[in-house]
Amino acid sequence: MKRIGMLGGMSWESSLEYYKNINEGVKARLGGSHSANCLMYSFDFEEIEKLQSAGKWRELTEIMVSEAQNLKRAGAAFIVICTNTMHLMSDAIEQETGLKVLHIAEAAAEEILRRKVNKVLLLGTKYTMEGDFYRNRLEDRGICVEIPEASDRQVVHDIIFKELVRGEINDESKRQYVEIIEKSVRRGVQGVVLGCTEIPLLVSKSDVSCQVFDTTAIHSEAAVDYAFSEEGL
Ligand code: GLU
Repeated sequence: MKRIGMLGGMSWESSLEYYKNINEGVKARLGGSHSANCLMYSFDFEEIEKLQSAGKWRELTEIMVSEAQNLKRAGAAFIVICTNTMHLMSDAIEQETGLKVLHIAEAAAEEILRRKVNKVLLLGTKYTMEGDFYRNRLEDRGICVEIPEASDRQVVHDIIFKELVRGEINDESKRQYVEIIEKSVRRGVQGVVLGCTEIPLLVSKSDVSCQVFDTTAIHSEAAVDYAFSEEGL
């Protein structure tokens, strides 16, 4: 089993899910008292969030690269960034550390294709929905990607930062998310990518009438698969 290096704490609410999923995945494979060979560096998210909202992406890249280098020094064989947004600097992390970054959007794309879905709604932070670093990875695989209209994007973004990363789960916010998803389903979308690792804490597949791609679960599973694969050895 390769040692998994995780960049977490963005937020810790979703890093908990990663830690649990990855350990459960290893246990399901090996049984007994087995658990994951992993490391996690957990950021203080308040600091990350302030830099994100100030648009200081270069500084954020330096911080992420530096912590990935620390994980490498501690023996990580590959990197798992436990947030969609911070995949913005995944190429820089790969280049600077020489380690593979197991990309969350690529793992999502694999699962979307496996389920034979070709048109999805992408929900996440504004950085993820409005940038091209994430949607390009899906579109390059032939998946058609829709994002909500501007006012709905603001709702989705604000709920992530004002509630979900703080561990607040509200029925009214769930109702708003479901309404935004169903609006897209009426326009022909077949699935929704929960492209922020906290959204699965709010919305699950029983809440909506389309396929749900939970990136936290998909990425955790991909991490376990990669840890056991021959690739990169
Ligand atoms: N966890 C969220 C994501 O998957 C948001 C936190 C962040 O901005 O990194 O994008």
